[in-house]
Amino acid sequence: MMNCPYCGHYDSKVTDSRDVNDGVRRRRQCLSCGARFTTYERLQPASLFVIKKDERREEFDRNKLLAGIRKACEKRPLPTGAIEKLVDDIEAELYRLGKAEIPSELVGDMVIEQLKKLDHIAYIRFASVYREFADITALKQEVDTLLSGVEAPTSQLPLLPETELAIKGRRAGRKRRKIRSRR
Ligand SMILES: [Zn+2]
Repeated sequence: MMNCPYCGHYDSKVTDSRDVNDGVRRRRQCLSCGARFTTYERLQPASLFVIKKDERREEFDRNKLLAGIRKACEKRPLPTGAIEKLVDDIEAELYRLGKAEIPSELVGDMVIEQLKKLDHIAYIRFASVYREFADITALKQEVDTLLSGVEAPTSQLPLLPETELAIKGRRAGRKRRKIRSRR
């Protein structure tokens, strides 16, 4: 709660209250000088801890997550705001679980699932760090699975409209042919 902006008194009464976006807007009246003022209170989610592989707990850090995903998406042709939206979605999903502690693997898996839909290269980069592919064979298997998934789309809803996907597929095909014809 906020002190009166006019006299600094610590106490006020609420005269009106309404929900706005992700918070509450309150009309208040100072109990000392009677001045009216408005406060906006953002709803603060309860703090969330991530359980790391070595059992240590660390408070969930959105910026850290964002930095990790940004790194994986470096130089990828992604629409503006796509990474932030991905982080927003994951953060919302984590809080929706309603748990105080979440294993870091779960966070990693969520990111991996989302990146898979967003950008295959970013996905491989992130997964190779996060899942620590045991060896190059495991990584290759994952890449092969992905590539076969591109050829035969799964029932997963595409992130891009069908036409755009088709164009991307054709481009990729053209590139592959080009490389082959150079030999
Ligand atoms: Zn006052």
